[in-house]
Amino acid sequence: MTDSLEAIGITVRYGGNVAVDGIDVAVPAGRMVGMVGANGAGKSTLINAIAGWSRGTPVVRGEVRLAGQKMDGLPPHRRAERGLVLVPEGKGIFAELTVMENLALVRPPADTRGRHAFSMDDIFTLFPRLAERRGHKGRMLSGGERQMVAVSRALRAAPAVLLLDEPSAGLAPRLVHELLTTMRGLVDRGLSLLLVEQNARATLELVDELYLLERGKVVAREAASDMKDDPRILEAYLGNL
Ligand code: ATP
Repeated sequence: MTDSLEAIGITVRYGGNVAVDGIDVAVPAGRMVGMVGANGAGKSTLINAIAGWSRGTPVVRGEVRLAGQKMDGLPPHRRAERGLVLVPEGKGIFAELTVMENLALVRPPADTRGRHAFSMDDIFTLFPRLAERRGHKGRMLSGGERQMVAVSRALRAAPAVLLLDEPSAGLAPRLVHELLTTMRGLVDRGLSLLLVEQNARATLELVDELYLLERGKVVAREAASDMKDDPRILEAYLGNL
């Protein structure tokens, strides 16, 4: 099977500090891949590099391919136009715009072949709470609702591969589970998803494959079903969550 997303040898350096050290990632079509690791392991730096974003001015090396097409050198909005769409950790919701206005900022692409298009009705079916709050301004929304708006905005861009950075940040466990379960439903309908998370337990339950990051390197990469029994994972990441 062709991988929807393939990142090869991704390296991100801030001065002398190597934040991401030659990481390979593959997201097969219609699969959910999780990437977990402690604070500072390099998860956000990696997913941002794949999306073409950078915080500060790092040196970025490696190759990113979307359905075989090279993305290297393209700015984030060009990658998004081609279907590689990031939901950033900070969420980036406009506080003074309503839910509808935030969503309307994204113009869906005219050609959605090989992509997953979502109408406004689809979005409101996925997230009924947003339908109820469509006229509310961003600043009035709860953390969970903001996260739903951020994901919905990405879905309006008709992703082929969705990149999701720490959706659990600041959310109650029940909401994390709800959101990730909704995302799993989309994957079961064919979307490809790369999820970066600190919450290893919630991630492990829903992904097909899990990568473990430590100090910028992948130290384990296995089917999620095998990881559940891996004593390293249980001890290092699940025991203390
Ligand atoms: P967290 O879960 O806390 O977000 P993370 O696994 O996402 O952690 P990153 O935020 O990717 O980790 O950080 C990886 C490393 O890169 C850290 O050592 C961090 O200090 C460094 N780093 C990240 N952004 C910058 C920047 N703009 N300038 C310098 N160093 C940075």
